[in-house]
Amino acid sequence: MRLENKVALITGAGSGIGRESARLFAQEGAAVVVADVDEAGGQETVAQIQEAGGRALFVRADVSRAADCRQMVAAAEETFGGLHILFNNAGIMLAEDSDAVDTDETIWDRTMAVNLKGVFLGCKYGIPALRRSGGGSIINVASFVALMGAATPQIAYTASKGGVLSLTREIAVIHAREKIRANALCPGPLRTELLMKVLDTEAKRHRRLVHIPMGRFGEAAEIARAALFLASDESSYMTGATVVVDGGITAAYVTPE
Ligand code: NAD
Repeated sequence: MRLENKVALITGAGSGIGRESARLFAQEGAAVVVADVDEAGGQETVAQIQEAGGRALFVRADVSRAADCRQMVAAAEETFGGLHILFNNAGIMLAEDSDAVDTDETIWDRTMAVNLKGVFLGCKYGIPALRRSGGGSIINVASFVALMGAATPQIAYTASKGGVLSLTREIAVIHAREKIRANALCPGPLRTELLMKVLDTEAKRHRRLVHIPMGRFGEAAEIARAALFLASDESSYMTGATVVVDGGITAAYVTPE
């Protein structure tokens, strides 16, 4: 088992990448704190883990709120005795997010509050707990859109994910001597709730698919496996890295027909 005796906290674990990672981490021996605003989704993740014989706890937390972030970290320490893996995964992509001219300020603020401030708050309260446990691994979810301009404008989302990359690099450098590693994960387009809600017609899905050399959307489980590597000691010499799991998008100038 690759995460034996580890405690992991995963935000946004009530769906998609977060749920798949929670299930996989638990299977690999970790005790998992499932944090989400969606109570039903979070409880379902916990039930799935427990049915498979794993250890998990649901904590209702909105990552844009400091008090909630403080509390989810405290729950990890109180229930499972520490924190070794902090997976800042929760994120939103709002349908009204468009180009710089048409995007309303409220959409910008909400997106930044969850996608970027949420990662900051996770680190603000999570890092002291990682220190108390003797070190650990932080995984922050950015996106391939942090590396390239998107064909469909989503100015707030794109900017928030660019912020996650630079924040992750600084955290990696500042905390390296404390045995705390921090890496960013950049998924390509996935067949999860978040994206399929926005790409709600065949034409919109096709417009995205033509950019993917592999010609298909990724699966949350394919990102969870990369997260497991970053969470485990197998990546012990990796910090400050941007790990791209995108079906080849960022490698492509043109994609095959
Ligand atoms: P998802 O919508 O399936 O899951 C996201 C989860 O986060 C949901 O359970 C939701 O309730 C939760 N959440 C939303 N706001 C929250 C908040 N304020 N506090 C706590 N939890 C909150 O999405 P997903 O595809 O699994 O996305 C996970 C991460 O991956 C996000 O950061 C997303 O931006 C990123 N990402 C997704 C894709 C994609 O194509 N799906 C691509 C690149 C990056």
